[in-house]
This record gives sequence, structure tokens and C-alpha cells, in this order.
Amino acid sequence: MLYLNGRFCRAEDAMISALDRGCLFGDGVYEVIPVYSRNPFRLDEHLARLDASLAAISLPNPHTPLQWAELVREVIRLQAYDDQSVYLHVTRGNAGERDFPFPAGVAPTVLINPSPLVTPSPEAKAKGVRAISHADFRWLRCDIKSLNLLPTVLLREAAKQQGCAECLMFRDGMLSEGAASNVFVVKQGVIACPPKNHLILPGITYDLVIELARQHGVPMEVRPVTEAEVRNADELWMTSSTREVLAIVELDGQAVGDGCVGPMARQLDQYYQDFKRTVMRA
Ligand code: PMP
Repeated sequence: MLYLNGRFCRAEDAMISALDRGCLFGDGVYEVIPVYSRNPFRLDEHLARLDASLAAISLPNPHTPLQWAELVREVIRLQAYDDQSVYLHVTRGNAGERDFPFPAGVAPTVLINPSPLVTPSPEAKAKGVRAISHADFRWLRCDIKSLNLLPTVLLREAAKQQGCAECLMFRDGMLSEGAASNVFVVKQGVIACPPKNHLILPGITYDLVIELARQHGVPMEVRPVTEAEVRNADELWMTSSTREVLAIVELDGQAVGDGCVGPMARQLDQYYQDFKRTVMRA
């Protein structure tokens, strides 16, 4: 069961117009919220980022945070499985014609579609994963969680073709992020990650990992990170709501550090898992 424009229905009964602006232009924004044992994780933070994405594209938020929370909880309740990945999107709706400027008086399309949550396998956690890199050829508003995901599609396909789990991106010699993750480097016991700006998505997991590092007194620098630093790092990790903290042990065929999951990755993942358990019990 999913939610579409005011009603709960089966996926096969959920119809969106072919002229929906999400379909024609990618004119919309989205969120992916992990759900553990039917509890949405960092829901307020995801709803705040959704609100920021909507504001950035001048699309009025159709719901208050409370209304969103109720819809999300109802969708979660309707599923047969406990751990979920709740995909949510809002588009500028169906204008009935293909014209670029905003249409007047058109209701947004609201979709909330859950699926079973897939997190990294125990093997991927224990051994780490491989990644490739590519020039960051996306636009200059990567802080908006936009439906325009063609770069991500192309880069993730390229990674997959090479047996890799992610593609890291560089712009002008600096690290931006992964195709669908934020990236952290570790050198001599100090963690570093790029600052939040228009070149990266403000990750919910990124924020939490920084907060946990600071809470536990782990050296953590938020500052621009060079490509050379990435290539000479002792450890590299990606973070995202579904991948959590996942070590990258090989980049473009070269071992990262000693090629094994490093102690800092293990430590921060442990803090993350502990935090998750505490919150989920509350
Ligand atoms: N950057 C990009 C480009 C992403 O698509 C994602 C996944 N949503 C992230 C970073 C990680 O964000 P989060 O921790 O909120 O899942």
C-alpha cells in the first residue's frame, strides 16, 4: 500500500498523469526515510530538509510537519514488514500541458511509497566496498534533493559495471560527495568532510556522524577536502540513510590505506548503531 494525493491504495492502482511535471521535467523534490521496527528515523530532520528543498524550488509545502508525520506513520502501519525505506516525493503536479514556467492553480502531486529497507550486508560492513570516481558534472544546486537524478543514474551504473558500490565526485580538484552519499576521509586519526554548501546534499546521516564524533571527542574537521587527500587517506567512508556508515576500501582500483575497514569507520559505525538503538527504544 502507498499514499498518493490524498488516498491510500495498492501500487498497481496508483496512477499519475503522463503530463505530471515530475515526469516531464523532474520538477519536484524527494526524501528517503529509513524506518526501523516501524519507527521512522530522524523524521523531523527529513521533513525539515524536504521543506528546504520545496522552498528552494518555490513549491509551497502542501502539509505541515504534523500532517506529514501522520501520513508517513499511516503508510508505515499499512505495510506487512517492519524495516522500511519510505520514499516520498512532491512534484509541481499535472498542468495538462508541457510548458516550462510554473502553472497557476495546479495541485502538487504527493507520493509516499515504502519498500523493504535494504542496508549493507554484514560482509559489506566487515570488508568494506569498492568505489570509482568521476568529475562532478551535476548542476550547482546539489543542496536541493531534486528529482533530476540522471547524473546519479549514469554514475551509479558506471560504478555497478565495474563491480563498485559508489562513485565519488570531484569538482575543481575538491571532493564533493558520492553519487548518493556523503563522503568522509580519515588521516592520522582526524576525520574530515566537506562543509555544507550548494555543492553537496546536506545529509541527515552526515549531520549525525559529525554530531556523534564531536560528542565522543573524536577529532573532526568540517572543511574543503582535496582530491589528493582522498587518494592518500588512511580511511574513506560514505554515509547515507540506507548505507549508514560504510567503509570504502578501494578507490579506482587502488587500496585505501591498508585496504581494510579502518578503526575509525568501525568506531563511528558503532556510535551510529548505538544511537539508533537508543532512539528506537525511546
Ligand atoms: N548525497 C546525495 C547526493 C544523496 O543522494 C544522498 C542520499 N540521500 C546523500 C548525500 C546522503 O543523505 P542522507 O544521509 O540524508 O541519506
